Amino acid sequence: MGKALVIGVDLGGTKVATAAADLDGLLLAKVIEPTRPERGIGAVIETIVDTIKEAATSAGASKSDIRSVGIGSPGPIDPKAGVVVFAPNLMWHNVPIVELLESELDLPVCLENDANVAALGEYRFGAGRKSSNMVYITVSTGVGGGLILDGEIYAGSFGMAGEVGHMTIADDGPLCGCGNQGCLEALAAGPAIARKAQACILHGQETIMTDMVSGRLEEITSKTVGEAAAAGDILAKEIVDKAAEYLGIGIANLINVINPDTIVIGGGVSNMGELLLQPLRRATQRRAMKAAFEKVEIVKAELGSDAGVVGAVCLALGRL
Ligand SMILES: [Zn+2]
Repeated sequence: MGKALVIGVDLGGTKVATAAADLDGLLLAKVIEPTRPERGIGAVIETIVDTIKEAATSAGASKSDIRSVGIGSPGPIDPKAGVVVFAPNLMWHNVPIVELLESELDLPVCLENDANVAALGEYRFGAGRKSSNMVYITVSTGVGGGLILDGEIYAGSFGMAGEVGHMTIADDGPLCGCGNQGCLEALAAGPAIARKAQACILHGQETIMTDMVSGRLEEITSKTVGEAAAAGDILAKEIVDKAAEYLGIGIANLINVINPDTIVIGGGVSNMGELLLQPLRRATQRRAMKAAFEKVEIVKAELGSDAGVVGAVCLALGRL
């Protein structure tokens, strides 16, 4: 018999990332497999089970050494019932994932929303290590978030808290994927940043971004905008500043309501670093209550794409 393990699973629409860790949360092995949800629920469950066994083997242990499993899934989810309520990129509707995995594995399995799980990872082992009340915001193709209050995930009454991307920021703003108008996600996520650049160029504005994509405007991403801004391009800098301002409005609202000690910004767009964070802090300062703003740290996430799997390990540790 090997040493006792816990397993963390970060389930996404494109890949399943599974880690084995010791009881202190130290990662011992990580396995990544494509999700391929078009194969159906049973096949995805089988893939998850396979990655769990493989991660245990890679960690020099076996399935019998595993004490618990934590899983982060796209949501909304119902953490108490262990059900993925709706996950469009998995094509899942009311999937009882905890029951399915527990009957396959004969182990306790714990489910949480993926953004809440990533928040937990940053809180325990990343940029929120010194925090008690932390807001995690991930800015990539969407804007997601998670709340850690008094050291615990705050999931809300029905598991749906922390949807910071769907706070209304502009009353006449662009349509959001959720059906509302002017959500933070519709204004400041990667695709919104890229679309803004494309629209400005089509209106005749001069920028090095046109040459960066050899005139193929559809290839502009938020990364292009970030790189152009870093190189001193005026239009790109304006677009980044505007996205930072929208994020700052949302963060000021969160600070005034929650009074956190730390705001952690993750996701691909956060790789712009201080280029984004400096105007974001200024915008937040202009709008948040002074006493609350002075006490809060706004920092970049530290775990990158590992936040989900590290958080899932923490979730599993919480079940022991
Ligand atoms: Zn929305």
